[in-house]
Amino acid sequence: MATVLHVTGQVLVGPAEVRDEVWVIDGKVTFTAPGSGHDVQTVSGWAIPGLVDAHCHVGLDSHGAVDQATAEAQATMDRDHGTLLIRDAGSPSDTHWIDERDDLPKIIRAGRHIARPKRYQRNFAHEVEPEQLVSRVRAEARAGDGWVKLVGDWIDRSVGDLATCWPVDALTEAIAAAHEEGARVTAHCFAEESLRDFAAAGTDCIEHATGLLPDTIETFAKQQIAIVPTMVNIATFPSIAAPAQEKFPEYHKHMLDLHARRLTTIADAKDAGVPIYVGTDAGGSLPHGLVAEECAELVKCGFSPLEALDAATWSAREWLGRPGLVEGADADLVVYAADPRQDVEVLAHPQQIVLRGRPVLAV
Ligand SMILES: [Zn+2]
Repeated sequence: MATVLHVTGQVLVGPAEVRDEVWVIDGKVTFTAPGSGHDVQTVSGWAIPGLVDAHCHVGLDSHGAVDQATAEAQATMDRDHGTLLIRDAGSPSDTHWIDERDDLPKIIRAGRHIARPKRYQRNFAHEVEPEQLVSRVRAEARAGDGWVKLVGDWIDRSVGDLATCWPVDALTEAIAAAHEEGARVTAHCFAEESLRDFAAAGTDCIEHATGLLPDTIETFAKQQIAIVPTMVNIATFPSIAAPAQEKFPEYHKHMLDLHARRLTTIADAKDAGVPIYVGTDAGGSLPHGLVAEECAELVKCGFSPLEALDAATWSAREWLGRPGLVEGADADLVVYAADPRQDVEVLAHPQQIVLRGRPVLAV
């Protein structure tokens, strides 16, 4: 006799589609009630597909790769906050063992970060020169799950400011190679100029994107280049830049400027139609499980609560090619006691989390 989970109340299967119940049978979503003779557990409230953290790092902390127990604790922390699908935006650890664990969130990997030598945080990236970029990109595309992550700009100490890391022709060739391997490309970009180069080279996505200006916003909207701003991380720019204030005053000033205009930058990108998704950048220096906080930051950028929720659920899953609450899909869902479409603060207090059909919290 199979245990069946019956979710009742408001089942938000799409941004504009609500049902009054969904069943979970053998770990899968169904909208057809089972026959009699099942042991039925019921949970009631507002149900949504499992949250998506589209920029997260599992197997990484501020010093580099971490051991398996630490990576497991990171993934568990995400799960216990309702994040059931992660796009890992670069990790020096091989976390494929997580795929065998049905109690941990699903992960879409981007392999390991690819950076120029001495132009990124130590121990994070494969550090290569432009002539090795194509072969490295191909290797990371094969190591990952359909994404490759480049570091597009970083402080150049000889310039004393943020500066682009790659010549455009090398980038163009590398992005074409990733696409040939069936992978999409994203890049860490804080400043303005790298965005022009990556757009010209055909990137699919940009992380942070704090340097967007009217011309690049127009290009990104036209090319439908997605951005994952990670506002909870951008909020820390003043402390990231502070140690460099005396030695690199231009860099310090630049970072503070990007920080000061961050809300209007993302608001302008949204208004222009740039696709925007929720990501927290957990794992480098921030803790895991901050999707609710990131949604609240997007609301500060002019997103309605429903738009912020969409960027963390339905549209994010569609963008990543993973199903939400549809017939036959794995039952990955979160239930709340109040309506998260009215107030994203609700996301911080899940009443029940269901991963592959199994309740994570006691029903
Ligand atoms: Zn990151």
